[in-house]
Amino acid sequence: MSEKNDFVEDLVSHVKQNGFIWGPEPEIYNGMAGFYTYGPSGKLLKNKLENVMRDVFRDYKYYEVEAPILLPRKVWEASGHLETFIDPMVLCSKCEGSYRADKLIEEKTEIETADGFSDEKLLSIIDEENIKCPSCGGSFEEEVHDYNLMMKTSVAGQEAYNRPETATTTYLPFKRYWRYFRKKLPIKVFQVGKAFRNEISPRQHVLRGREFTQAEGQIFVDPEKKNDWDEYRNIKDKKLPLFAEEMQENNRKWENITVEEAREQGFLSSEAYSWCLAVAYDLFVSMGIPEERIRLREHGDDEKSHYAKEAWDVEIRLDSFGWTEVCGVHDRTDYDLSSHDEHSHEDLTVTTQDGEKITPHILEIAFGTDRPTFAILDIFFEEEEGKMEIPKHVAPIDASVFPLVSKEGLPEIAEEIYRQLHEQKFDVEYDERGSIGKRYARNDAKGTAICITVDFQTKEDDTVTLRDRDSEDQVRVKIEDLGDRLEQWLYTDAEFEDLGEPV
Ligand SMILES: [Zn+2]
Repeated sequence: MSEKNDFVEDLVSHVKQNGFIWGPEPEIYNGMAGFYTYGPSGKLLKNKLENVMRDVFRDYKYYEVEAPILLPRKVWEASGHLETFIDPMVLCSKCEGSYRADKLIEEKTEIETADGFSDEKLLSIIDEENIKCPSCGGSFEEEVHDYNLMMKTSVAGQEAYNRPETATTTYLPFKRYWRYFRKKLPIKVFQVGKAFRNEISPRQHVLRGREFTQAEGQIFVDPEKKNDWDEYRNIKDKKLPLFAEEMQENNRKWENITVEEAREQGFLSSEAYSWCLAVAYDLFVSMGIPEERIRLREHGDDEKSHYAKEAWDVEIRLDSFGWTEVCGVHDRTDYDLSSHDEHSHEDLTVTTQDGEKITPHILEIAFGTDRPTFAILDIFFEEEEGKMEIPKHVAPIDASVFPLVSKEGLPEIAEEIYRQLHEQKFDVEYDERGSIGKRYARNDAKGTAICITVDFQTKEDDTVTLRDRDSEDQVRVKIEDLGDRLEQWLYTDAEFEDLGEPV
């Protein structure tokens, strides 16, 4: 087994043992591929990433909405999903196992992305590279089947589908937004919620689940105003790690170039689209993904979705699976509103302030929160030491409070500190079981940012020990200053030794 596979195995086992992600669920019934439970540590982490994401969207003046997960067949006919939301599937001629052809190729060859390859191309690569069935070693049938990813159900006898993305469900109330936002474009909304895809053979843990949490920002924009975008000036000098199609074709590396330069070189089209790409980049950096592990990759023409005019992905370099797509930024043009206009017979055009009747275009930032959660666990897992060195501002537990011993009044003081920090809105844990060494190790494994120990000196001078997870350095701090010191440590670049007196 390769080193990479060992790492994935270690990571997944660590993530299970420390209450991050369990599954595939239901474990006690042997599990069903593609479904997971977030345990206490994982749910705290995912919530924190979602809070960062909400904060970033609100910062850029998007409003959050929440739409139904289930919608009738007509909606998915209009959106194009019933016809085009398909994956290329190949069947093993020996065990009849089904696999997604493009993913199989990406896993077994040097090809980084086989998304959008034609059936002929997929089959010829499988043949040339001699790719066999991963479960039995048999050969694949020489045919690619279309496999629809929509999960079907019924509501009071009516055919309905679980949404495969939040996007479509966000678009449907467009006329309501139009009135709510006082008949003025652009309109910016986002939605966070569950979506479902009946993946052929889900692997790679929560990176490709059948049920997952999406988070998608949508802007309805006047197509004539894409290059008259006020907020463009705020991001035009920002450097982005751009991997344009031209660079990919010439085997060049991606480059950090400013948005303005990228537009001059013809890599990015409109101001509004460029702004969306900068927002997408900010989302992942804010969630704690290191900048050097992020790149923005332009889609080739054969890779683009049925609705997209311009499309770039945000990719993160994982230790487990290499460069991994975590977000797509698309100019969907008037595809969605025109199609829903036609199918619903509702007029979805609007009259702009210039008196023109238009169908707004949609610019979308489409991602989910499972992949960034997995990315954080992957990137910050210190395999040797069994630590999760998660960025402090999104650590599942901010601080764990211990009494040195479970007697002589120390637990009462520790409980009081727990309550005080909880009231100040920190995520705190109280732990009095096992030796201090074991408590440190348990918290390091869960990614707790800081451990606070109440000892006998506390009774004399009201100070406690703070211990940093990563350096394992310790300082003493007054109980009354704990909230401020913690705030400083979690949310600024403060040096640990500056938080208190050295021990
Ligand atoms: Zn097989």
